[in-house]
Amino acid sequence: MSILNRLNEIRATIDAACERSESGAKNVNIIAVTKYVSVEKTKEVLDAGVLHIGENRVEDSMEKVHTLGERGIWHFIGNLQSKKVKQMIDKFEFIHSLDRLSLAKEINKRVAQGAKVKCFVQVNVSGEESKSGLNPEETFSFIQKLAAFPAIEVIGLMTMAPFVDDVETVRPYFRKLRELRDEIAEKDLEHAPCRELSMGMSNDYVVAVEEGATFVRIGSALVGKE
Ligand SMILES: *Cc1c(COP(=O)(O)O)cnc(C)c1O
Repeated sequence: MSILNRLNEIRATIDAACERSESGAKNVNIIAVTKYVSVEKTKEVLDAGVLHIGENRVEDSMEKVHTLGERGIWHFIGNLQSKKVKQMIDKFEFIHSLDRLSLAKEINKRVAQGAKVKCFVQVNVSGEESKSGLNPEETFSFIQKLAAFPAIEVIGLMTMAPFVDDVETVRPYFRKLRELRDEIAEKDLEHAPCRELSMGMSNDYVVAVEEGATFVRIGSALVGKE
């Protein structure tokens, strides 16, 4: 199946999920995760009309960003080491993995004067040891502290659910992230409007959309693996 056909199927599946669910967002953005594929394949994704591209490694993304840069909106979705911020910061419009103050400080230092980076704070809702992110209980106080860094705009929360066969078992994690997002958005912090939810991957995006995802990060189901 071509990327365009897969994209159309995924879009239809998302629309249906939004319609069935009261918690579903009206507008869900698809981020094509191209970390498994080549520059060529990434170009095909853009040609098919996807605007948002997600990458999780600084080194691996640089060739794509340099070749295709202007055509896409780039999302950094992986763990980000502070020492690599300098190299990637003016290429990526969104960072989905803000999870510590030292990283916020580095981003703030490296961003062009007056510019803002749209950041998701990563939350480890499931509490799995192997996953990064803050505990839900410490997320709000972390976000309050980010007010010290003018270049950081907290646009929402991000999570990765455990990989499971029965996706219904991850629904409570997505719901919990939505409830946490609602609580934080209600505080109306100037540096943290916190309206977005980055959640849902190839295996669980339907459930994530039903629970209110506004950005889904889809790799293998859309671009395959090379
Ligand atoms: C790889 C990755 C994805 C996409 O994974 P698929 O299961 O292939 O859709 C989404 N989010 C993050 C953070 C990833 O690292």
